[in-house]
Amino acid sequence: MENINYGIDLGTTNSGIARFVEGKIQIIKNPVGLKDTIPSVVAYKNERILIGEKARELLNNKKANVYAGFKRYMGTDYEFQHNGTTLSATDLSATLLSELKNYTQVDGLDAVVITIPAAFNTMQSNATKKAGEMAGFEQVVLLQEPIAACLAYANANQLDIESQKKWFVYDLGGGTFDCALVKIDNRELKVIDHKGNNYLGGIDLDQAILKDFVLPKIQEQVKLDLTSKEYHTLKHALLYQIEEVKKTLSIQNEAWFEIEDDDLNISLDFKMTRADLQKFVTPIYEETEQLMLDLLQENNLSFNEIERIILVGGTTYIPQIRASLKANTQCLIDTSMDPTTAIIQGAAYFAGTKPKTTEQDEEVPFEKIEVNLAYEPTSQDEEELIALKTQSSFKGYLRITRTNGGYDSGLTKFKNEDQVLVPLIPRERNLFNISLLDKKQRICFSKDIEITQGLYLISDQTLPADICLELDDNGQTYLEAIFTKNSALPIQKTVYKTFSKTVEPGSDDAIIINILEGSNASLPASNLCIGRISISGKDLNTHVIKGTDIEIQFLISESRDLNVEVHIPSIDLTLTETFEPDKNIVDPQQIKLDIEKATAKINHEIAFFNQKEDYESSLALQKLLSEVSHLKKLGEGLELNWHQADEKKRSLFKVLDSKIK
Ligand code: ADP
Ligand code: MG
Repeated sequence: MENINYGIDLGTTNSGIARFVEGKIQIIKNPVGLKDTIPSVVAYKNERILIGEKARELLNNKKANVYAGFKRYMGTDYEFQHNGTTLSATDLSATLLSELKNYTQVDGLDAVVITIPAAFNTMQSNATKKAGEMAGFEQVVLLQEPIAACLAYANANQLDIESQKKWFVYDLGGGTFDCALVKIDNRELKVIDHKGNNYLGGIDLDQAILKDFVLPKIQEQVKLDLTSKEYHTLKHALLYQIEEVKKTLSIQNEAWFEIEDDDLNISLDFKMTRADLQKFVTPIYEETEQLMLDLLQENNLSFNEIERIILVGGTTYIPQIRASLKANTQCLIDTSMDPTTAIIQGAAYFAGTKPKTTEQDEEVPFEKIEVNLAYEPTSQDEEELIALKTQSSFKGYLRITRTNGGYDSGLTKFKNEDQVLVPLIPRERNLFNISLLDKKQRICFSKDIEITQGLYLISDQTLPADICLELDDNGQTYLEAIFTKNSALPIQKTVYKTFSKTVEPGSDDAIIINILEGSNASLPASNLCIGRISISGKDLNTHVIKGTDIEIQFLISESRDLNVEVHIPSIDLTLTETFEPDKNIVDPQQIKLDIEKATAKINHEIAFFNQKEDYESSLALQKLLSEVSHLKKLGEGLELNWHQADEKKRSLFKVLDSKIK
């Protein structure tokens, strides 16, 4: 059995691919620029499709359609307009993934690990998987980015992960911020909780510099119409320069802008210093720090208990961010890896331990005797002991082979029990077959096992949010958690409900089961609907009376497919459905309605607190109220849109839930 071995970081700004070979990671460089990563940009010019650096260069080309930052739209129904047709973020990601796949020059590469932010919801995860499949990968295993980061740092630096401790992953990239709390115990790494903001990163920094540093300078010289087509093109060119200047400021104290535009009559030179940059970095850093503090508080932890903070994401190159982290957390700030490739490397380490399922496993021959086996599935040693004992008396031969090559014990005499030391290939999954043969060399027992050497295994991939059932109780809807946030995947559970009404066969009447992702302590409006099952009269051939039992079995796979099986024992009816939703449909009308409802609710609570003279609580709610009313402006604003408003809405409503009992 072969392992997947290839891992991809599909980033908002940059993406890359790496390969696991003999315990080491090879980052596969882009053959044109020979860089480790390519910009996550796709451009269409005339009949050509350009991807990566070449596409990024076209950002200020009027004759090309250029798409960047589309990861922020993964799992939504947002459509990019393209020559009269439309493209989804999934389509664009698939194009990018195909390009990375080609860099490997491997024919028929059909399995890969792709990383996703920890804050990705089910739709976003499924959209990523779909993009992988569209790019020709038959098997796509998703891995959360903080897990990838820890794997990379732990494996590359051979960090001590024997003793119990906690790490913090701080990932500030181009478009997203994620922080994650990781528990280390006895060589096992486990993400215990995380927090993130899908709209916080280097791009926001660039936008702020554009708006409050560069544009004012230009407008001193010419008057700009910010809605004109010319400005639109200039804006891309400016953002390009801003990013370069910002990066230069990570190694120098000052950098220069040179802005020339004949159409708009602009000719300008001016410099930016680290001090100028500081006021743009500070609010972004502060927001990340607040998220870190919230995460610690929710887990009853403080920075004292964090052994190190691992830095990931290009924006963590900024010296001010490193210095603020050091000063404000007093933790060890681990900057030992390139923060822009750590995730790619982690993805490949993970791929090096994941078996391919695209190949058919060989059938194990017959099994005639019962055998008890004992061995350690993970090991740091060069050899490992396999002990076996038959449950009944047995005399014959034992044979142990390493099915991924290089070791064969041959037939050795065996009676009832034995122990064998087998050699391990360092830093790999070692697959062994253990067989017992009778005196005529017929196989009586055969079992495949695996022992992983040197690699640190993640115990679990976890759920990023609760998965709940929306229940309708006499018109009142409420949520019941099926699975709680941070549960290990795969996970399965059966819940028992009863029909809330009688349903006649053939009628349009139906019992609806909505499955939502989000906190169970929240309003249904702050959550995402990821699946919906209806048991309608049309499914029935006999009537089902109110109070009839329903068994609902939920199963979520490691890659977050949701499988639901509904069983009604009294009439022996089973309905099964697998959900892989990959689009969150954002409805501005619904958002406006939710805003109205929330506003009424907050006003009501403010009045209540005022009456109780609890001005502190009242003030907190007033702040929230102004943020909620700002949502509408956000949705209708020029730069932003309803998708971003929807995401902000859900996070604001979560805060609201925590404030209002
Ligand atoms: P993502 O994970 O979002 O794809 P990356 O981790 O590659 O992103 O980070 C990209 C962001 O990091 C961009 O906004 C880029 O401008 C910023 N960045 C990269 N290098 C530096 C640097 N040396 N100094 C400051 N910012 C940087
Ligand atoms: Mg990233």
